[in-house]
Amino acid sequence: MEIPALQSIRDRVDRAANMAGTSVRLLAVSKRQPDAAVRELAALGQCAFGENYVQALAARREHLESPKLEWHLIGALQSNKCRTAALLAHCVQSVDREFVARALAAHRPPNLPPLEVLVQVNIDHESGKSGCPPAAALPLCDLIAAEPRLNLRGLMAIPRPVPGLDDRRRAFAAMRALFEQLRTDFPGFDTLSMGMSDDFELAIAEGATMVRVGTALFGTRPSP
Ligand SMILES: *Cc1c(COP(=O)(O)O)cnc(C)c1O
Repeated sequence: MEIPALQSIRDRVDRAANMAGTSVRLLAVSKRQPDAAVRELAALGQCAFGENYVQALAARREHLESPKLEWHLIGALQSNKCRTAALLAHCVQSVDREFVARALAAHRPPNLPPLEVLVQVNIDHESGKSGCPPAAALPLCDLIAAEPRLNLRGLMAIPRPVPGLDDRRRAFAAMRALFEQLRTDFPGFDTLSMGMSDDFELAIAEGATMVRVGTALFGTRPSP
């Protein structure tokens, strides 16, 4: 298997980051891709990977145990999966309610560093979608910041996948405004995770510090 896209995606990320005057981390979204593809990317130096299901993340950790790899959970987290997530993830990007924050804190093993978390914001107010309403981000961040077993790093969003980029640009800009506002209260805030395969350069121009790229890196995802 060959993943020629990694260098070209990294180049595009770096170019956009230079233009925005920031530095940006690339999260490789490996969901539903074969272990071999993850190994290939890891061998090329990619270390941060994202999965959207706790079971999938658990399987990766079992198959690909390597101290160099860093696993991010980016999918909605059910209450009964918080314990496993707290055990196996390095970062949970999808914390969107109090129960999940408290459960992750309660279950993070004492021998591991505090679990990194991002608060997921439903920036387009889409009904039925995960993410807290923008106005709920501050109280949720307050709660997380008070938990010693959690390390609050910032915000994550999945803007509505509208065809036109203008709406997405507005959503990214709104996320950045919220991020900057909260950053004054939470000094550990350094991560704004937004932007995927088809809009990561736009997201970086609008302030992303981490982009989550799947298909542009790995090719089309196998169906579930
Ligand atoms: C699948 C997924 C991505 C990556 O999507 P691509 O369009 O394949 O780059 C990013 N973020 C989340 C939360 C996802 O579920």
